[in-house]
Amino acid sequence: MLTVDQARRLVLQHSRPKSAERIAAANSLRLVLAEEIASDIDSPPFDKSMVDGYALRAADLIDGHGELGVIEEIVAGATAQQAGAPGQCWRIMTGAPIPAGADAVVMHEHTQFIDPDARAGAAFGRLGQVRILEERFRIGQNIMRQGASLRRGDIVLSPGREIRPVEIGLLAEVGRTKVSVIEPPTVAILSTGNELVPPDQVPIAGQIRNSNGSMLTAAIRAAGGQPVELGTSRDEPAALRDALAQGLRSDVLIVSGGVSAGALDLVPGLLKELGVVEVFHKISLKPGKPIWFGVGSSSSLAPSPSPLAPTLVFGLPGNPVSSLVCFELFVRPAIARLSGRTVPEELQTTAARLTADFVHRGDRPTFHPAILSSGRDRSTITPLPWSGAADLRGLSAANALAIFPAGDREYTAGETVESLPLRP
Ligand code: AMP
Ligand code: MG
Repeated sequence: MLTVDQARRLVLQHSRPKSAERIAAANSLRLVLAEEIASDIDSPPFDKSMVDGYALRAADLIDGHGELGVIEEIVAGATAQQAGAPGQCWRIMTGAPIPAGADAVVMHEHTQFIDPDARAGAAFGRLGQVRILEERFRIGQNIMRQGASLRRGDIVLSPGREIRPVEIGLLAEVGRTKVSVIEPPTVAILSTGNELVPPDQVPIAGQIRNSNGSMLTAAIRAAGGQPVELGTSRDEPAALRDALAQGLRSDVLIVSGGVSAGALDLVPGLLKELGVVEVFHKISLKPGKPIWFGVGSSSSLAPSPSPLAPTLVFGLPGNPVSSLVCFELFVRPAIARLSGRTVPEELQTTAARLTADFVHRGDRPTFHPAILSSGRDRSTITPLPWSGAADLRGLSAANALAIFPAGDREYTAGETVESLPLRP
C-alpha cells in the first residue's frame, strides 16, 4: 500500500494550474494573480499634507516659532487658490495638496490661533493670525512627497500572488478594475449511500444523516474551490453512473462513500466504466484507508479535441472523519495547485511534545484528533478522546491531528511527535 507521502505526490503530479481569466478586481479576493501589475500614476499623485495644521515657509520661522497670517483654508480634495507671500500661511487638512511655496506643515496641536474676537472654539473656517510653536521643526515635515509610496510604471504585484484585501486596495490605488487571475476550480461533490437521509430528517432504522455533503461543500469553499453540489445518489448502478458522469464535467469530482470493499461499493467500478483511470486505491492511513484517486476526462462531454484538463476524481471513504482527513491530506492541496498556488510536495507538519502518555496500536499511521498549542520554545500536543472514523464531535474539538507512525507503541509524556495543524 502507498504511504501518505507517496499518494500525495501522485495527486500533486496530476494537479496543474487552471488557465487565467479576466475578472473585476473587486471580486478577486483569495484568487491567484496571473499577470504583472504596474501603477498608472505616482502615489500619492501630489505632495500632500499628512496632518491637520498649517502649511508654511520654513524661512518665516525662527527655531520653529513665529506668527503668521492665515490666508486660506485648504481641505482634502481642494487646491490652494491663494499664492502666499512671506509671513503668510495656509490652514491645511490631512490629504490636501501642499500649496506652491510651502515647504513644511506644522500640526494643529502645535499652534495657537490668535482669535481677534476672543471667541471660544476651533479656528477652523476662520482666517486671522496663528502662532506657531514647534519644538523640533525641520523643513519638509508632515509632507508626503508625490510618488513617495510608488512611481508611475512601478511593478506593484507579480504573477502568483494570492489576493488579500490589501492587494484589492493596491489594485484600486493603481487604477486596475480588471485583473487576470487563475480561475478557481469547480469541484463537484456527490454523496452516495442507500442509508443517507438529509440533515432535516430523523433517521429511522438503518438510516444515517448525510454529514459529508454539507461538510465537504464547506471544505471546498474554504479551500478556494467552487462547489458544484450533486446531492445524494443511492447505491444503484444506473443512478450512480449518471451522477458520476455529471460530476466529470467539473475540474474535480469528490465522491463520498462507496469506495471500500463492501457489496454496494460500486464507485471504483463505475468510474472505470466512465473512462476514469485509477491512480491509486487504498493507502496506509487511519482514518482514510479506502481512498480512491483517479484521473478522468471531461472530454467525453466536450467537443474534441478538448482544451479541458482531465477531471481529478477522489473517492473518499464515507465515514465523516475519514472523509475530512482525506480532504485535508489530498483534496485541499489539489485545489490549491489548480488555483495556481504553490503547494509544497511534503506535508507541512509541526513537531510537538506530548502532554500525556499515549498508546498507539495499529499497522497504519494514525492521524489522531488533538490540541496543538504553540509554546515559547516548543509546541505541545494533547491527543483527544476519539472513538474513530465516524466521530466528528471528537474531531470538532481538535485543532490538529497528531501523527503516530504504524506499529504498536506506548508513548510517554514529553516525547516528540509530528502533527498536522488543521486550518480554521
Ligand atoms: P462507505 O464508505 O460507503 O462504506 O461508508 C462508510 C461508513 O460511513 C458507513 O457507516 C456509512 O453509513 C457512513 N457514511 C457514508 N456516507 C456518509 C455521509 N454522507 N455522511 C455520514 N456518514 C456516511
Ligand atoms: Mg456506502
